[in-house]
Amino acid sequence: MSLASSSSAGTYELDRAHVLHSWSAQADVDPMVVERAEGVHVWDADGRCYLDFTSQLVNTNIGHQHPAVVQAVREQAEQLCTISPACATEPRSRAARLIAERTPEGLDKIFFTNGGAEAVENAVRMARSHTGRHKVLSRYRSYHGATTTAINLTGDPRRWPNEQSGAGTVHFFGPHPYRSPFHSRDESEECRRALEHLEQVIELEGPETVAALVLETVPGTAGIMPPPPGYLRGVRELCDRYGIVYIADEVMAGFGRTGAWFAVEHYGVTPDLIAFAKGVNSGYVPLGGVAVNEAIASTFDHRAYPGGLTYSGHPLACAAAVATITAMDEEGIVDNAATVGAEVLGPGLRELAERHPSIGDVRGLGVFWALELVTDRATKEPAAPYGGSGPVMKRLVAECAEAGLLIPTTYHRVHVVPPCTITAQQAREGLAVLDGALDTVDRTLAEQHG
Ligand code: PMP
Repeated sequence: MSLASSSSAGTYELDRAHVLHSWSAQADVDPMVVERAEGVHVWDADGRCYLDFTSQLVNTNIGHQHPAVVQAVREQAEQLCTISPACATEPRSRAARLIAERTPEGLDKIFFTNGGAEAVENAVRMARSHTGRHKVLSRYRSYHGATTTAINLTGDPRRWPNEQSGAGTVHFFGPHPYRSPFHSRDESEECRRALEHLEQVIELEGPETVAALVLETVPGTAGIMPPPPGYLRGVRELCDRYGIVYIADEVMAGFGRTGAWFAVEHYGVTPDLIAFAKGVNSGYVPLGGVAVNEAIASTFDHRAYPGGLTYSGHPLACAAAVATITAMDEEGIVDNAATVGAEVLGPGLRELAERHPSIGDVRGLGVFWALELVTDRATKEPAAPYGGSGPVMKRLVAECAEAGLLIPTTYHRVHVVPPCTITAQQAREGLAVLDGALDTVDRTLAEQHG
């Protein structure tokens, strides 16, 4: 088309004319035009202010427009915007050290990518090269990204239209006490049965064919499900017993989200590889990567690493990571996430569950919480279909937005995932808005289901 024909249109009109949106039927797309953002707030083009309980795809752990990070990117841009990844740069070297210092003991080498899916892809590549095996185990109820390997590892319904080339992926059931695939009566039985099931999957697949097991430490978009005590230690033991590389996907859970630098800290396990992205620099410039242990890193001491990316360790992204991690330390942002979760979000959401019959389950930690909405607590029938959304959830999102709160939903779940910088007062404000919208959900479901 000619340039002249689009020059007078506004942002919204240009978006609808030329932008193909992710994961959406384009006819349904109706994006908010965002003008600016600061801290835990976002302003639309009409000047309306919203409290951001989404962290923009669970990403802006440090909040929007942190001045130290903006300044670091600006200074780096003036000095060196881009360079081949074959060169060493100060921001990449410093970012790698800061990340390695925060991963569990022994994961001291960092391979940089542009985001989370590429981090998972490269973790799998490392595991396959290291073991000489090809299969990869991953759980149903997971999301690992939208590139070919990562989407096939994903257990969430977003895999369904993408899985024609999924050779080598084997899904297993993880523990899910609220909707137990094992019909367990409690968490410890769920944990034991989930581990027995996993061991059977490994044995039936043939352990010598299994390169890796990929597991979100706390599955995120699939439902924010902290694992029962002992589960991850059991996974670690099975991986050790069968020579399988344990890849923790902490793209969403890492960098403060759960109130720890990495969620594995809560469970006392050390994976072989950790895939990270998002919170590493709160997405100010795209960045992801893999933290690698010595045994796997040394596979490539005298054998070429079979992969690479033009923007691996991009100077602007790494400068943003250095500034983000430094500010998180200086401002106690990880501890803030832990405290707000333990003192406000957890108790506040449990209190909402006492009053709202539509809430079937509340779970989470740090600033990483989910509510399951159900039509009936006894049957646990979801308030929206698996893989879809439905009018009740759409209305909840719209009602919250109307009252100044951005909040994400996935199928029949509401996720409460504000930046790690949120104050107790701001968290209470958001919960009060959610409380009002849940009244409507209760009423609507009661009308529909008697
Ligand atoms: N793994 C997990 C756990 C994620 O949550 C995501 C993104 N939501 C990804 C991988 C993919 O990351 P990206 O979108 O940066 O490719």
